[in-house]
Amino acid sequence: MALSQTCQLSLYEKLDALARNLWWCWQPEVVSIFRDIDPVRWADLDHNPIVFLREFTPEQLENRGREVVLHSRVNYAYRRWQEYMSSKHTWGDTHAGVLGHNPIAYFSAEFGIHESLPNYSGGLGVLAGDHLKSASDLGVPLVAVGLFYQEGYFSQQIDATGWQREVYPYVQSSRLAIKPAKTPDGNHVLVQVETRNGPIYAQVWQVDVGRVKLFLLDCNVEQNTPEDRKLTARLYGGDQRIRIRQELVLGIGGTRALTAMGYQPCALHMNEGHSAFAPLEFIRMRMVNDGHSFDEALLMTAWRCCFTTHTPVPAGHDRFDWGLFEEHLGPIADQLGIGPGGLVGLGRVDPNNPNETFCMTVLAFKCSRRANAVSNLHGVVSRRMWTGLWPNRSEEEIPIGHITNGVHVSSWLAPQMRNLYDRVLPLEWHVRSGEPEVWAGFENVTPGELWETHQSLKNRLIQFARNRMLRRAERLGLPDSEKQEMSTLLDPEALTIGFARRFAPYKRADLVLRDVETLGKIICDSAHPVQFIFAGKSHPADDYGKAILQRIFQLTQDPAFKGKIVLLEDYDINLARHLVQGVDVWLNNPRRPLEASGTSGQKVVLNGGLNCSILDGWWAEAYDGQNGFAIGNGHTHVDDSIQDDRDAKSLTRVLLDQVIPLYFDRNQEDGLPEEWIARMKRSVRTLGWRFNADRMVMDYVNHAYIPAAGGVSCSMARMS
Ligand SMILES: *Cc1c(COP(=O)(O)O)cnc(C)c1O
Repeated sequence: MALSQTCQLSLYEKLDALARNLWWCWQPEVVSIFRDIDPVRWADLDHNPIVFLREFTPEQLENRGREVVLHSRVNYAYRRWQEYMSSKHTWGDTHAGVLGHNPIAYFSAEFGIHESLPNYSGGLGVLAGDHLKSASDLGVPLVAVGLFYQEGYFSQQIDATGWQREVYPYVQSSRLAIKPAKTPDGNHVLVQVETRNGPIYAQVWQVDVGRVKLFLLDCNVEQNTPEDRKLTARLYGGDQRIRIRQELVLGIGGTRALTAMGYQPCALHMNEGHSAFAPLEFIRMRMVNDGHSFDEALLMTAWRCCFTTHTPVPAGHDRFDWGLFEEHLGPIADQLGIGPGGLVGLGRVDPNNPNETFCMTVLAFKCSRRANAVSNLHGVVSRRMWTGLWPNRSEEEIPIGHITNGVHVSSWLAPQMRNLYDRVLPLEWHVRSGEPEVWAGFENVTPGELWETHQSLKNRLIQFARNRMLRRAERLGLPDSEKQEMSTLLDPEALTIGFARRFAPYKRADLVLRDVETLGKIICDSAHPVQFIFAGKSHPADDYGKAILQRIFQLTQDPAFKGKIVLLEDYDINLARHLVQGVDVWLNNPRRPLEASGTSGQKVVLNGGLNCSILDGWWAEAYDGQNGFAIGNGHTHVDDSIQDDRDAKSLTRVLLDQVIPLYFDRNQEDGLPEEWIARMKRSVRTLGWRFNADRMVMDYVNHAYIPAAGGVSCSMARMS
């Protein structure tokens, strides 16, 4: 856009334009503009700038803009955005040029980009969101495809007894930064997917994530039966039938949407198996357009497909019985000329075993030339788990490599920490964040400055926690005396340990509760105060997870622990941001090797917190003995309860022998925990460059996208 045009836009128009591209959400300056307009409303409206701006008339905004001197800040932000969108000097222009004009198509069932777009349930979605943000920052040509869940996942409320209640807010599309996607000639996109009992239709929304476009399919259209209109209402909300229909819409419908919009992807990336039907539509198109046989078209399509697996347990993979499979895949199987009886084999380890149910992960493997796990250890586990797919190869030769997950730095780094980075790291560190030399400078931070910055972030977290607890107390109508208590929860001087993640059983949120007596000793030592903050959602159908949540809640009500163990409701990206930026220690105790990677601890690293974790997922390759703490020694036992007991003992030992003494070992002169701060620095310096999403996306470009798009071939199994 010409500069003269830029100058003619009003303050309101510029803010509105910024609000409609999610780029704003990883720009601290733009976030602070919205906040400064009205901090209270901004927080109340869940940081959603679309609804927030609607609260003001253009005149009111002009006035407010003069009051808090916004004009030059908005002009600057707007100009930076324009430059960002049009820049031709990106990493991708230099290193991914061979991908040409045809983008990578990235498929995922969930995308966690910002709390105002509740299209995610946990780590998988946040990872996908971070992937898009880094692809945008790096200038990697990529379009993304997902589903639009009008009721999102769910909001979590914890009732007076500590039981989880699910609330499904109905998200109006007009309140989000989304717009109808258009075909090249300007029409709305409506796709159709056949089943044996009639077609399913979906409209398509577009979300702008910096330079990346995300397309979300939505079945709430009048062409559908009333039942199907609700098909995409909820993420992971229905039975197996809803599940296969959602996945049909995602894979086949999503590919048709891309075609309708004129995209010819140079490669396809499936983030987990939910989208594994997508290659089938690519195969069909090759057969129709170029006259290839099914076998030829499968080979050619597989060459262009990359698959990332995330699930290290056999039971965690989507499987469908014959009835559901035939009803939904029958039509396309007929079009492919192999019939459902032929297609079903692509979803079986042994194609001819009639007792094997159709598995999405197997389909994804068989349709992809390149496949990867999400950490080194997960690679080992995945190769072992899928040996049956390559019966003539030894375990080391199974072609599943790994690309370890990373987090998007600008999204998770606190602005206060960012200022520190700006001072000690080289200029332009944020566009070179995958290089170790760039992070070496963190050693130069003055200990006092790092400590004070961290303390101020911890204070922010405590304030945030008190507000959330107060909000809950008000909702439940608790007596004033109890509301009062909320304003004194948690102690800024105490060693603050955070634990937040989905309450999936393998994550063992209650591991530290196995020995309540020792926990009591740890928490009630007034010379060395320690406190815990818990948060996390349990899947609506998982009563076991809800029971764990309730046990933690009951502990928070115990007079001995009151105010020292806190359970915050509704874990989302906003709460995650506060937690990872403010805790001293991030606790992670999954049952090894079930945490494929984990990413929340990586967010903590960026902000100077220390990880205390089982040697599982990313931590198994990250821990060097001095950049955090390890629970256990990486050994596992076949009996879960024996392993849980051992890990619980190891956890309390680490806390008592290492974490707590180190934290309270203060320097006589300035009162700083010298050794602790040295560890904080080491954590940032040794881990920041490796476990960030820029490095991750660069790895995908070099080891998956470029080979898939026809550049240099390279097997991921050979990767480090
Ligand atoms: C980062 C993140 C996760 C993933 O955390 P893990 O520890 O990897 O399970 C889940 N939920 C939210 C909201 C997150 O921000």
